[in-house]
Formats: sequence, structure tokens, C-alpha cells
Amino acid sequence: MPLELDLGPAAQAFRTELREWLKTNIPKELIGVSADSLARGNMTAAGKAWVKTLTDAGYMCVSWPKEYGGRGLTGIEVAVMNEEFSRADVPRVTRGMGEWLVGPSIIVWGTDEQKKEFLPRIIDGTHRYCQGFSEPDAGSDLASLKTRGIIDGDEVVITGQKVWTSGATEANMMFCLCRTDPDTPKHQGISYVLLPMFTPEKKSNGIELRPIQQPHGASHFTETFMTESRAPITNIIGGMNNGWRVTMTTHGNERGGNATTQHVEFTRQFWDGVKLLKEKGLTSDPVVRQNLAWAFSHVEIMRFQGLKLLSEVLARKEPGPAASINKMFWSEYAQKFSTFMVNARGADSMLIENDKDGKYEVDRWIGSMFQHRSSTIWGGTAQVQRNIVGERVLGLPKEPDPTKPRPNPT
Ligand SMILES: Cc1cc2nc3c(=O)[nH]c(=O)nc-3n(C[C@H](O)[C@H](O)[C@H](O)COP(=O)(O)OP(=O)(O)OC[C@H]3O[C@@H](n4cnc5c(N)ncnc54)[C@H](O)[C@@H]3O)c2cc1C
Repeated sequence: MPLELDLGPAAQAFRTELREWLKTNIPKELIGVSADSLARGNMTAAGKAWVKTLTDAGYMCVSWPKEYGGRGLTGIEVAVMNEEFSRADVPRVTRGMGEWLVGPSIIVWGTDEQKKEFLPRIIDGTHRYCQGFSEPDAGSDLASLKTRGIIDGDEVVITGQKVWTSGATEANMMFCLCRTDPDTPKHQGISYVLLPMFTPEKKSNGIELRPIQQPHGASHFTETFMTESRAPITNIIGGMNNGWRVTMTTHGNERGGNATTQHVEFTRQFWDGVKLLKEKGLTSDPVVRQNLAWAFSHVEIMRFQGLKLLSEVLARKEPGPAASINKMFWSEYAQKFSTFMVNARGADSMLIENDKDGKYEVDRWIGSMFQHRSSTIWGGTAQVQRNIVGERVLGLPKEPDPTKPRPNPT
């Protein structure tokens, strides 16, 4: 358990209140279960009941302002909440992309009507979002996207292809970028649309999902094809052709918004790893100990960095470019730690934990190692984060435009 910090009397009062609440509401069946595992298609009856308990008690979207149905928690209080859930060893379930990405973007850019319409539906779980940004030729260079949005009366009609759409098979709404004005420079003319994935008759809204198979057997994302998918123009957030500004808010939250939550899972994973290595008699090996010391200090740095970023967010209201430091740090750590665990266990890593029905399922450490290959890619690659930190945090010169001749240094 990480060191408990003295965060002042208000945070301490909140900690005491929450600890009491957890004591009476804790779901015994979910002790030791991670929120990630529930979110990744393993939702049990106990999990559903826990989601309802948290929603009814107002523990969803807790950092949103009270006027929008949140709890108005400060960054420090969110950190306390994460620590207490971790201490109780119960999953800190959230509303995923709705809570972390779309909701905060609607709060900054939405009209009063949009806030009233969309925010409560995220909190109560009616709307489950996936992110329709990347396209086959528009990843790091997202502004090159080609998906078209044509205005037809009071609707926007969207046709195009997205790729790597995480959680699309469990979503019923997509926050989708489309080009509504093709005749302006590429960062302009983009609109940010909340696109229903189904019609009111529960038929597909012109959306076809083709799951992409991952090396460890799962399919957490899809190729997504939209053919004349329709949304009311009142679902455009931030105004027509102003989608790039809204996207920057979403990206800031994607890179830094989970700054106080991610160390919780990594702490849990770290202690799981220590327990396993102890059982195997490996913790007296000095190389293993050295790596564990490295990992422990990194998870602690992640926690403190998260608190630092949160105080910046509180001052600015949304995460700025410094969020990229956070994204770079945890994603590179996660790759190294899961690889270390696989190596430390040697041949044991090749054993299959759940060989159900002859289905090849790798164990959770190999799964984690495969999974985290992608963590330095999604949400903006590690190289792109370094560009942002270099140019927008440290104020270094911009990278040279490869289409222009380089100046002669002499
Ligand atoms: C697991 C996973 C989940 C994802 N989930 C989603 C999702 O839900 N929704 C969604 O819209 N997208 C999602 N993505 C897509 C993700 O955002 C893109 O993969 C990412 O932005 C990189 O784009 P790209 O794959 O086209 O690579 P490219 O942009 O083609 O990059 C290729 C390589 O070139 C490097 N590079 C590119 N530009 C520069 C530069 N200017 N300076 C230095 N290096 C550069 C990159 O770092 C990378 O190494 C997901 C991706 C993954 C892997």
C-alpha cells in the first residue's frame, strides 16, 4: 500500500466519510477484481449491482461539477477516492470514455441544451461511447481525416472509415470527427459529432464493425465503416467546423485526465507481481530486487506526477500539453514492467493459465506485455508526445517541415 499523504483537513474528512461508506457497501464477491477486467467484457451480476450502487450513491463522474450531475470533487479528493478504493481492493468503476473524454469536452464546449441532454445519460450509463477519430491515413496526423459530414436539413450525414475504434462493440454512441467543409485548411472544416450507433428502432445507423484480432486472442477494437450514418446537427459539439478545438480538449483529457487513477491499477499490478515472484522464490535474486525497486519508485512517481498535473488542471480547467509527460511516463513504464515480469518468470511465462476448451489463452502477464505494446501508440504515440513536450512545454524549435529545404547551417 502506498504511503498515505496528509492532503489537508477537507481531504481527510472526505477520506473518513468514504472509508465508512465502503465498509458498509463493499461487495465481497468483487474484492481483488480490477475495474479493467470488468470493463473488458467480464461484467458479472455482482459487477452490475456494484455499478448501480456507485451510480445511486453519486460515485460516477465524480470530478464533474455538481450542476452537471457530478460530485464536484477536487483533484485531491479524486486522488483520495482512488486510494480508498485501492485500499479496499474493490474496482473503481467509471463510465469510461464518456466520463473521461466526451463529458469533459461537452462541459467545456457544449451548449446548455447539450449539457442537459448528454451529460446525465453518461452518468446513468444510457450512453456508452467509443472514439471515432483515427482513420487508415489519419493517425498522428489526425487533421488529415477524410470522413465526410454532409448537412442534410437538420441532420449531418456521415460517410467514411475509422480504425482502431476501442470498445466499439460495447458502445451505442461514437464521438466522431468528420469533415464538414472540405474547402478550408485541414485543421478547419472538421466537426465533432455525437453519433448514435443505432436508430430509435434499434437498427444499425449505417455502421458496420469489423473486429481486429489481437495477438493474445482478444478483440478490443474494430475497423468501423459508416455509410450515410445520421445525427441531428444539435449533436455537433463546439459548433460547425470547430471540431479541432474540441478535439484538443478531448486529447488533453486522454493524456492527462486519468492521471490520478492509473497508478492505482499499476500499484495493484506491482504487488501482484511481487507476490507471484515471492511464491516462486525469486525475490532474493538481486537483479529481480533491483527491477522491483525500479518499478516501485516509478509507480510512486506516477502518483505524485498525477497530483501535480491535477493541480495544474484545477488552475486551467483542462489539461494542457504537460499531460503528454504523464502519457509518455506510464505507457513506457507499463511496457518495461510487464516485459520484466515475463522475463523474470522464465519458462513459467509460457504456461497457459486458462486453457479452456483447447482455446489458446495466454496468461495475464503475457497478455499485459502484448496489450502494452499499444500503450505507446494510442492516444498519440510516444514520439508525438515527445514533440509536444519539446515544442509546447519546453519551448524548443518546431520540427523541420520535411517538404521544405533545410537551411544551410553555414
Ligand atoms: C490499442 C489501440 C487503441 C486505439 N484506440 C483508438 C480509438 O478508440 N479511437 C481512435 O480514434 N483511435 C484509436 N487508436 C489509434 C491511435 O490513436 C493511432 O494509432 C495513433 O494516433 C497513431 O496513428 P497511426 O497508427 O496512424 O500511426 P502513424 O501516425 O502512421 O505513425 C507511424 C509512426 O510514425 C511516427 N510519427 C508519426 N508522425 C510523427 C511526427 N510528427 N514526429 C515523430 N514521429 C512521428 C509515430 O510515432 C509512429 O511510430 C488506437 C490505437 C491502438 C494501437
